[in-house]
Amino acid sequence: MNEDLSTARQWLARIAALPLREPVKVMNVCGGHERSLAMLGLRAVLPDMVKLIPGPGCPVCVCPEEDLADAIGLALSGQATLAAFGDMLRVPINAPKGEIRSLAEARAAGADIQPVSSPQEVLALAKAAPDRPVVFFAAGFETTTAPVAAMLAQSVPENLSVLLAARLTWPAVDMLLNTDATALDALIAPGHVAAVMGAREWGFIPETYHLPVAVAGFSGNSLLAALYSVLRQKLENRPFLDNCYAELVQPEGNPRAKALLAEVMQVEDATWRGIGTIPASGFALRGAWRRFDARARFNLAALPRRHAGGMPPGCDCAAVVLGRKQPDQCRLYGRACTPRAPVGPCMVSDEGACHIWWQAGLRAAA
Ligand code: SF4
Repeated sequence: MNEDLSTARQWLARIAALPLREPVKVMNVCGGHERSLAMLGLRAVLPDMVKLIPGPGCPVCVCPEEDLADAIGLALSGQATLAAFGDMLRVPINAPKGEIRSLAEARAAGADIQPVSSPQEVLALAKAAPDRPVVFFAAGFETTTAPVAAMLAQSVPENLSVLLAARLTWPAVDMLLNTDATALDALIAPGHVAAVMGAREWGFIPETYHLPVAVAGFSGNSLLAALYSVLRQKLENRPFLDNCYAELVQPEGNPRAKALLAEVMQVEDATWRGIGTIPASGFALRGAWRRFDARARFNLAALPRRHAGGMPPGCDCAAVVLGRKQPDQCRLYGRACTPRAPVGPCMVSDEGACHIWWQAGLRAAA
């Protein structure tokens, strides 16, 4: 990453000069932000009073276990080619030892599973084999769901359907703050989500909870600018919504992407793995687009499950996602659970805090 080091030093000096007299807990909502913070080692150079807490911004981590099991079951049934983002493949479900526990294991057992990185790749797969059903297991937040909506709004072939596990970010943060408004002192809002949905979407944080918030990009300097903003807001007891990613984020977001989302999807209550149902936090296909719903096309709700549930036994991933535990406070971190042998989804995904901390060399519990 090309960082302007002298600017970074200036931000760090400004933060260090703030007269913080008690710990300030700042949640960085986005998994991408957590990756930048950890890889740049920023926690180590910030004042001790600043506590950065990873938040719920990992779509793979919160993808319902049942949806993953449906995807595995469908792929193993041989009825369709299953296309999924690469970091979903190793996420384990709660199946007994000896049974298939991930898409990767299903693929090794012969299931037709194709890792993809974009909806356009799925479209190409479906067009290349028009007689073969192709199901896109589309798990993600607003940033990945808007391109799925755009794909469906094109002329898509009838052999393509979507197993949607799409979530909205802000309702999870709202639920967190509503549950315990004292748990956090400030928040850094996700830049890419805000680029699609608009910075204004995060205005509820100062308006409803009287807490500082700043939208940040993924560079160290953007994150440090946002951190300085929220710390200063906190000190001055003057919370507002700051946009520290103005080069990409508009107050109202991307009108075209939002229009496509509104045309193809509706917002519903949705399950988050290990957390439960969060009101109005999931996307579902609406109206005429429901004919592309793989759940209806393949009667997926009828697939039998013996071990449906949340996180795997012993895994604190839900607490990590909610900012209630740090990865190294999980007793499995670095022991039974590593990127080579992940127990929970937070150790699989590039946006999972456990995976990021391990990759960044944080080995406290090993
Ligand atoms: Fe779950 Fe592994 Fe993270 Fe523990 S270290 S919370 S088991 S993913």
